[in-house]
Amino acid sequence: MTVTTIPTGRLAAVTGGASGIGLATVHRLREDGHKVLIIDRSEQVVELAEELSTEELPVYAKVADLSSPEEIKRLTAEITEEFGGVDILVNNAGIHPKQPDGSHFAIKDISLEQWNLVMDVNLTATFLMSQWAMKGMAERGWGRIVNVASRAGRMYMPISGAHYAASKAAVIGFTRTLAGDCGPHGITANTVAPGRIKTPLSDVSGLGSSQNLHEEFAQSVPLRRVGTSDELAAAVSFLASEDSSFVTGAVIDVNGGIFG
Ligand code: NAD
Repeated sequence: MTVTTIPTGRLAAVTGGASGIGLATVHRLREDGHKVLIIDRSEQVVELAEELSTEELPVYAKVADLSSPEEIKRLTAEITEEFGGVDILVNNAGIHPKQPDGSHFAIKDISLEQWNLVMDVNLTATFLMSQWAMKGMAERGWGRIVNVASRAGRMYMPISGAHYAASKAAVIGFTRTLAGDCGPHGITANTVAPGRIKTPLSDVSGLGSSQNLHEEFAQSVPLRRVGTSDELAAAVSFLASEDSSFVTGAVIDVNGGIFG
């Protein structure tokens, strides 16, 4: 097995790094001085990595469909062989199926197939990627795992399907236990729970003007607006840094103050 030694600094893997919060996180972690490995099912990441990469701060890409445990096995074996592991893992890839008109799926309309797909991407991939990453982190005695959940995993949200809400609540529960297992090895594990953030995933244009719907929703938010991907990336950056060294098992709500 050939193991490429990581030149200097940390290597951060971001799943779902082709779009929205993941893409903003890729940029932010680079600004923080980390080498970044972008993982996404979208092949766009290959070009993106080439564009962002510099000699001092390389950016790598891996195309993988994280709904498949077999594909995760292949992906993680490749990363282990090429890089020896990652120091920071951001489990951000997620899906939120909506009806063609942009409304959520009522429980009576959720097929088992759709339920399983949401669980596979949002929860099982987070479990498998964390299970793999924590081994190498433990050997090196340092690591940061940041899992992206949702406000929908914390409270009732009429726009979220039950499968989505259940998967995100499970990510929070999983991460608490992950923090317990990881703690003795110098690894922290935390969750960020975004409220409404303007990204392709929260685009409800099927219901009319997405912008208007965001503005309407904003009236219920104490800060009177929806969030930006950069604001999420800032929270991830903190949890991936030395500054958060005594923060683990926490859920950081990035939601403009909406708790009801
Ligand atoms: P997005 O749709 O803009 O980006 C999601 C990325 O994940 C995409 O690049 C997509 O290709 C990738 N992805 C999806 N399924 C994948 C799979 N099977 N394998 C590999 N990659 C896959 O979404 P976003 O709004 O940036 O969401 C990022 C995370 O934040 C998600 O976990 C989402 O549930 C969570 N979140 C978002 C909001 C919001 O309002 N945008 C709110 C709460 C939580």
